[in-house]
Order: sequence, then C-alpha cells, then structure tokens
Amino acid sequence: MTDKPNLSIAELDRAIAEERLVLLYQPQVTPADGAIASVEALIRLRGGDGALISPDRFVPIAEMSGQIVALGKWALRQACRDAAGWERIAVGVNASPMQFHDPDFVSFVETTLRDTGLSPERLELEITEGAYFDDIDAAEVEVARLRDMGVGVALDDFGTGYASLTYLRRLKISKIKIDKSFVSDFHSVDSAAIIQGVCAMARAMGLKITAEGVETAEQARFLSSAGAHYMQGYLYSPPLTRDDLAKLLRERAAPPPGAP
Ligand code: C2E
Ligand code: CA
Ligand code: CA
Repeated sequence: MTDKPNLSIAELDRAIAEERLVLLYQPQVTPADGAIASVEALIRLRGGDGALISPDRFVPIAEMSGQIVALGKWALRQACRDAAGWERIAVGVNASPMQFHDPDFVSFVETTLRDTGLSPERLELEITEGAYFDDIDAAEVEVARLRDMGVGVALDDFGTGYASLTYLRRLKISKIKIDKSFVSDFHSVDSAAIIQGVCAMARAMGLKITAEGVETAEQARFLSSAGAHYMQGYLYSPPLTRDDLAKLLRERAAPPPGAP
C-alpha cells in the first residue's frame, strides 16, 4: 500500500509507449526443501526518477481505462520470453478479467507460447476470483481451452470472492492461491478453520495450493500442516529482478563447494 497519488491515464499511456515497464519475479517454493517450483511475475512501472512504481498505483486505473489489456499482453510476452531462458521452473502471470473478455485472449496466449518457445506446462495464468466472471459460461469454455493446451490456471486471492465454490466446481482450474489476509490472520480460530477447510477441499479435488504472503516460519508450519503445497512470501524471497532471479537459480543449480 502507498499514500502516493495514482497515475493518470496519460502518464500510463506515456509509460507504455516509452516501454518503462518492468517485471519482478517472486519465487513459490516447496516448504520442505525450499526449492523454487515457480515464480510469479509482478509488474512495476519505472518512474521518471528511475524508482519503481507499485501496481497499486496504476493497475486499478488501467483496469478502468482498458489499458490493462495492453499491459497484460506486454507482461505475458515478457514473462514467457524470460521463463523460456530458465530451466524447469514455471511462471505465473496475472491476467485481469478484462483480458479474459477479449475474444482473442486464448489465441494470443497460444501465439505467445509458440513465439517464445515456452512449453505450455510452464505457464500458469492467475485470475482473481472476486472481480472475475460475470459470464461464467464463457469463462468455463476459455479456461477449458487453456487447460487443454496444457496451460495452468490458478484462482488468485482465494477466499476473498463471493462465488468461489461455483468457480471451483465449474472451472477446470489447476491451483488455488490462498489470500494473504487469511495467512496473516491464521492465529484467529476462524481463519485457521477456513485455511484447513479450503486445503482439504482443494486436495480432495486434486488441485495444487499456494499460500500467499507467508512472512513467518510459524505461518509456514501451519500452512504446510494444513496441506498447502507451495509457499510465497517475504519469508522466502521478495520479488526479484530478472537478473537477481537468474543468479539465484544458477546458485541453486551449482554443486556445493568442494563437491566433485
Ligand atoms: P497479487 O497477485 O495478489 O500479488 C501478490 C502481492 O503480494 C504482490 O504485490 C507481492 O509483492 C505481495 N507480497 C509478496 N509477498 C508478500 C508478503 O510476504 N507479505 C505481504 N504483505 N505482501 C507480499 P504487488 O507486486 O504490489 O502486486 C499487487 C497486485 O497487483 C497483485 O496482487 C496483482 O493483483 C496486481 N498485479 C501485479 N502484476 C500484475 C500484472 O502483470 N497484471 C495484472 N492484471 N495485475 C497485476
Ligand atoms: Ca497473483
Ligand atoms: Ca494474490
């Protein structure tokens, strides 16, 4: 959160035209060994002074103005290009409901994968359930097409929307991301019960679970014992630049010093 003013539509247009957009990547790790299974691409804008501007200050505006479609396409293309250069790990890209409403969205995803050479299994689209589908029939078809292509689809901020269970039943999703508000509040009896219930349900449906906003070892232990597969949060890593992530991946892949 920030107390700085939001960007104007004109400022955002200028930033897009001048290509002052940046992606940071935050690891999602398996808690037992800390291995990086995937990363989430998080967009930033480089301001005139070189500082990075948080999406809170421009994503809501872009969603209102429609500029989110251009931003989202840029983010998807850039993330797939970057991920194609890494070994193994998958990349999660946030997709706004407005992008899903674009009839060419699924073919844009397909073209982007082909152009960048990233295999579909290594891409996961994150959709926020709350704002999502006024037309669940159309969404059902689109999500099924993506999943048939091999692309993963995650329901983001799970638990904050109002129709989660319908989405779970009707959409062929592959993962849920438990919202960080439940994680930070896990000491409360209600949040703990919701986390445990959601994990049990998701596991019974064969879905993967990521807990978001994990900041303490205590939270990680609780989430892990509740059944979450992956953890994402400052406890493991902040969002990193592409170069810092590449360096981290190289270090992890290297044999320990002294090994033959
Ligand atoms: P999100 O998808 O829920 O992303 C997770 C947010 O939690 C990120 O904020 C991340 O930096 C932050 N975070 C990570 N670990 C922790 C932690 O341990 N504690 C806390 N308190 N926060 C943590 P960020 O990067 O500021 O992004 C905010 C939102 O902007 C995202 O929320 C997403 O909804 C939106 N966004 C970001 N990139 C894109 C994009 O490319 N397209 C679209 N449509 N939306 C985006
Ligand atoms: Ca997300
Ligand atoms: Ca989220």
